[in-house]
Amino acid sequence: RDLRSKNQRIQILADTDKLTTLYNREKLDQSLSDMLKTFIPEGKPLAMLIVDIDHFKRINDEDGHLTGDKVLKGVASKLQSRMREGDLLARWGGEEFVVVLPYATLENAMDLADRLRLHISEEMIEGKQVTVSIGVTQCESIDTVESLFGRADKALYQAKLEGRDRVISALI
Ligand code: GH3
Ligand code: MG
Ligand code: MG
Repeated sequence: RDLRSKNQRIQILADTDKLTTLYNREKLDQSLSDMLKTFIPEGKPLAMLIVDIDHFKRINDEDGHLTGDKVLKGVASKLQSRMREGDLLARWGGEEFVVVLPYATLENAMDLADRLRLHISEEMIEGKQVTVSIGVTQCESIDTVESLFGRADKALYQAKLEGRDRVISALI
């Protein structure tokens, strides 16, 4: 029993992003890939969001890395507070987060994305006005983890081009 609980603790550490305590990229990749194996053949809806903090580099430059880290934790906990059971939330990279929403349509996902965007900008985090841009997409029958990410990332790029602090979706 001792060994089993030790292994469980090691697994949790391996799956977790140290700074935010969210899932890390590896865990999200694995979970999403497992999910697609049942959601696609069974025709169940699934949607995905990539959330990227706007001009995050400026926060580091103006207030230092420690403040930057606190902002990352603050954004993570705001996102976390709006998740439902079954949703997956991970820190994808530096200032990027991914949300996987099983059973969500594109409309559900757009709605949540806009509420997340507003929740983050409505009050200061570490004394900073923080905004995010969000790319949203919906899983189709021909999708893979890579194609889903590609589309959400394209939508995110468009949100940045159009001026940031907004949600954009991409369809096949
Ligand atoms: P954009 O609006 O286009 O997304 O601009 P941006 O400044 O947010 O994007 P950019 O990719 O230029 O900069 C991201 C910055 O995030 C650069 C990097 O130093 C910082 N960063 C990445 N990981 C961490 C971290 O763990 N802590 C802190 N404090 N900063 C980090
Ligand atoms: Mg980024
Ligand atoms: Mg950014």
